[in-house]
Amino acid sequence: MELGIKGKRALVLGASRGIGNAIARELAKEGAKVMMAARTESRILAEVQAIKQELSENKEIYGFACDLDLAESRKALIKQIEERFGGLDILVHNTGGPSPSFTSETSQEQWQTGFDKLFQSVTELNQAFLPGMKTNNWGRILCVTSLSVLEPIKTLAVSNAIRSAVTSMLKSLADEVAPFNITVNCIAPGAISTERLNELMEARIKRSGQTREEYEKEYLESIPAGRLGRPEEFAAAAAFLSSERASYITGSTICVDGGKRRSTY
Ligand code: NAD
Repeated sequence: MELGIKGKRALVLGASRGIGNAIARELAKEGAKVMMAARTESRILAEVQAIKQELSENKEIYGFACDLDLAESRKALIKQIEERFGGLDILVHNTGGPSPSFTSETSQEQWQTGFDKLFQSVTELNQAFLPGMKTNNWGRILCVTSLSVLEPIKTLAVSNAIRSAVTSMLKSLADEVAPFNITVNCIAPGAISTERLNELMEARIKRSGQTREEYEKEYLESIPAGRLGRPEEFAAAAAFLSSERASYITGSTICVDGGKRRSTY
């Protein structure tokens, strides 16, 4: 299927590893002009090089250092993109997950940090790039969230609460910008095999006292597909949602979870 995004300017945040990295690679394969951002310049530039080497046809891949937790750093990223590329057509929000905590034990500082990291960065970048998308009468905004917005995850209080707020905010935004051919969607990973998931699993194994084998067996039994997802499977769905072909999907949360969520919708 031709996705219709050749030459589109796409920014993928949190792109140095895991899900964000896979999305950047997939969009680059589709011929988009891909800007990849993460905190460490050397790391993101190395990933840009790696993707350029893999793809002989598309060399329009660029790297930016940006710490999404810091307002100054977000502003600097917006400025650089405006100056070099004159705006964006596709904006993929993604960043590191918040630190785990139980709801009753989450400090005010953790709530605030989670809000800045997961909510403020999304609204700020949207506000910066939406005017250009409206002028062009085309845009795609996609936010990587979590199954936690459908079913709270026991030890991820900040993710459960703040990502639900982000989802609701983006649903409202989707209504407002739909007349401009701008779609706004969320994409929720279930259990995608990345370093982050591995770190969370290690922490849970420590707490549970189970062996890795026991824990994995139980965990995989909770996924109808019987396995973890691959980052490239997630990225394929993300690329589609970012494309011309997904023009009538907006205000939705699409789960990529091997059937893990237990709700019908
Ligand atoms: P990951 O930790 O492997 O990758 C996160 C990426 O974001 C990395 O490139 C990292 O460098 C970057 N990043 C982290 N903090 C940043 C910051 N302050 N500024 C800029 N970049 C930053 O995570 P992942 O597994 O790829 O997951 C991506 C997102 O999806 C996370 O928010 C995670 O919580 C969420 N999620 C993942 C899963 C899963 O199964 N992997 C499940 C549910 C939710």
